[in-house]
Amino acid sequence: MIVEEKKIRVRFAPSPTGQLHVGGLRSALYNYLFAKKESGTMVLRIEDTDRKRYVEGAVEGLINSLEWAGIGWQEGVFSNDRLPAEYHKRQIADSVSYPGILEVGGHGPYVQSERLGIYKEYAQQLIKEGKAYYCFCEPERLEQMREKQAAEKKAPMYDRYCLANVSEDKINDNLKKECPYTIRLKVPRNEAVVFEDVVRGKVSFGTNTIDDQVLMKSDGFPTYHLASVVDDHLMGITHVIRGEEWLPSTPKHVLLYRAFGWEVPTFAHLPLLLSIEKKKLSKRQGDVAVEDYIKKGYLKEALINFVALLGWNPGKGKTQEIFSMEELISEFEISKVHKAGAVFDLKKLDWINGQYIKKLSPEELHVKALPFLLEKEFFASAPEDCKSEKYVRKVLEIEQERLLKFSDVGEENKFFFNDIFVFETGLLAWKEMGMDRVREVLEKAREILGGVSNEDWTRENLGEILLEAAGENRGEFLWPLRVALTGEQKSPSPSDVAWVIGKNEAIRRIERALALIK
Ligand code: GLU
Repeated sequence: MIVEEKKIRVRFAPSPTGQLHVGGLRSALYNYLFAKKESGTMVLRIEDTDRKRYVEGAVEGLINSLEWAGIGWQEGVFSNDRLPAEYHKRQIADSVSYPGILEVGGHGPYVQSERLGIYKEYAQQLIKEGKAYYCFCEPERLEQMREKQAAEKKAPMYDRYCLANVSEDKINDNLKKECPYTIRLKVPRNEAVVFEDVVRGKVSFGTNTIDDQVLMKSDGFPTYHLASVVDDHLMGITHVIRGEEWLPSTPKHVLLYRAFGWEVPTFAHLPLLLSIEKKKLSKRQGDVAVEDYIKKGYLKEALINFVALLGWNPGKGKTQEIFSMEELISEFEISKVHKAGAVFDLKKLDWINGQYIKKLSPEELHVKALPFLLEKEFFASAPEDCKSEKYVRKVLEIEQERLLKFSDVGEENKFFFNDIFVFETGLLAWKEMGMDRVREVLEKAREILGGVSNEDWTRENLGEILLEAAGENRGEFLWPLRVALTGEQKSPSPSDVAWVIGKNEAIRRIERALALIK
């Protein structure tokens, strides 16, 4: 007998409550890598049943951020103007809720607010089968109940008042009168919910700790629990890969699968993201939105590489840290995801980004860095020749080696763009050097640089010439020259600086320093 293997289907199911969080990017990425590796399908579904938390433009923003990162999906919501050509043959509908958004695939709609009828039907089914019940309790009563429980140091649990006290007739009467109601799951008592999590192994919850979940809210919208289970089932999702914050919800989901008699998908809960202080990552510790990192000039390859390593690495004995998307697809294994929280270390992100910047061609570097440079005050006020493409490319060639992110471009080396820097004359002296010696050295440098022809004014030549002139006492020669050219104690090498600013400017700056000494 040939057993047909079930095709892998995963989903990323963000709520449009704001920008894409780096944790969300990781969930999306792991889903993407897993689907790619297994030749499966990834679905992008919008979970917008919490109307109070909806943020205008969030759906579009989420799609943009995922696209920016190079994460692709085959089914679900897409941006109207950027639908990949090969998708045009598929089943496509305009989203009713979000203009400009398309829904592609045979399991739609992929926006939960467009599926309200479906949830209602399934909730009704559970009621008919006695697995769920109407609750007409008013918010005030629930509030009092919770306060009492809190005072008795008990966990907040619905006391099943409506299950025990509201008769069939009363229910029908209430419904006829259109009294507001919710529908609650009747969670069985004294049972265990056990499931196998790919990351966490066997997970077990006692049902006595699980509240009778609200499935349908009084506004006619389903709760996350009902909507997500119904959709994962109807959309044929085989693997649910999501953040650990959803682990406590999973037993409720398993109970729902049981109540419906549906096959439970495989779960993988990804470790929490922690700040460097090992606390849950939140806005307080800095940027958490992908858009913030785009704005700061991180390369998508670097952010993806960094995020991929938040909870996964290729395993013992393998020290590779730089991975292209292709390498991630071939190396990634969901079973190797760690249980322990993953520390979000910005220094590491910077390092990785720096590695990618180093690999850029001069053209790419220029294209990517220029928009950031154009934003800088020091660049706007620079003389015109310092803004030419040729000049900027030289600056970038020097900065490339150490630049960690594009928003830093030029920041450490503003002297490339103006010479208004001031420094104390004393700074020109290396250690105990006297001012007479400083003068000697600067005069020598002026003479040497003055003797270099324009043709020979290359980065390589200048490096050699100045090193040779410095001889044994490098510090004594190069330090005063560096300060004269840059006003700084730390900078790229004086020969590199001289190369960028050019012969006339280099000599002008040396003369200015000499004038200070006299
Ligand atoms: N809508 C949930 C969120 O915003 C998705 C949780 C899940 O993946 O089940 O993260």
